[in-house]
Amino acid sequence: MKILVCISHVPDTTAKIQFTANGAALDPAGVQFVINPYDEFGLTKALQLKESQGGTVTVVTYGDASVEATLRKALAIGADDAVRLDGVPTDALQVASELATYADGQGYDLIICGQESIDYNGGIVPGALAAKLDVPFVNACIGLEISGSNATLLREMDGGKEELTATLPMVIGGKKGLVEESELRIPNMRGIMTARTKPLAVTALAGAAATTSALSFAKPAPKAAVQLIDASNLDELVRRLHEEAKVI
Ligand SMILES: Cc1cc2nc3c(=O)[nH]c(=O)nc-3n(C[C@H](O)[C@H](O)[C@H](O)COP(=O)(O)OP(=O)(O)OC[C@H]3O[C@@H](n4cnc5c(N)ncnc54)[C@H](O)[C@@H]3O)c2cc1C
Repeated sequence: MKILVCISHVPDTTAKIQFTANGAALDPAGVQFVINPYDEFGLTKALQLKESQGGTVTVVTYGDASVEATLRKALAIGADDAVRLDGVPTDALQVASELATYADGQGYDLIICGQESIDYNGGIVPGALAAKLDVPFVNACIGLEISGSNATLLREMDGGKEELTATLPMVIGGKKGLVEESELRIPNMRGIMTARTKPLAVTALAGAAATTSALSFAKPAPKAAVQLIDASNLDELVRRLHEEAKVI
């Protein structure tokens, strides 16, 4: 089975986020970048499928040279080869178009994306990619079994689960449940060493234009200081909840 895992290169969840002076872009200075956590679940599932059924796992990221450390980590975890679509993406449909142009005709049986990126949180790329490739798509995927060219999938719904079938090739948007956190793989020394010699191809873009452009980003307002009210002063508590917090 030929599997493609789309990897989004995102700030570590513990990173302190700052924006550029005009507020229109993330300031990457001093930020540690990681594999999008949803994509780690997808990568692990891809490696498990390869181990049980044979095949190859390719990872792809649309980004500039700064994303190569993230791709090398995916190679150290076990992917066979990596592809970097060379450019700076600014829009989810642009990313989906470039991924589709790259994947079209390469014969991938399964394309695994994350449900969403944890930076821009668009949740657009996987569905748009499937639409551009004209293949089935299941998002919020928490279970996947493959038998021949048939897939049985479990999808998380509000308050429940849905079981579906589809025929390969297809795209999924995965999340925790596809594999469990305990199954995620940490690169070992041997993996890190072999990753250095695994192929990382840099491919020119097809030139898809962005359809949106960010004007500005704003952080949530800082939390107000905690107010302590004497336990015996119930009237004051009610007054502040009513007049200041306006919740009663
Ligand atoms: C180096 C770099 C620089 C960037 N600079 C900017 C910028 O200046 N302004 C700006 O607005 N945005 C920027 N981006 C973000 C880029 O626009 C997003 O990748 C894109 O908009 C998709 O975001 P999303 O939240 O809609 O993805 P979602 O649809 O939420 O992502 C879901 C899944 O799609 C896949 N995916 C998403 N993005 C990529 C990708 N780039 N390559 C491969 N797979 C992907 C992953 O599997 C991911 O889990 C940058 C990204 C990178 C990697």
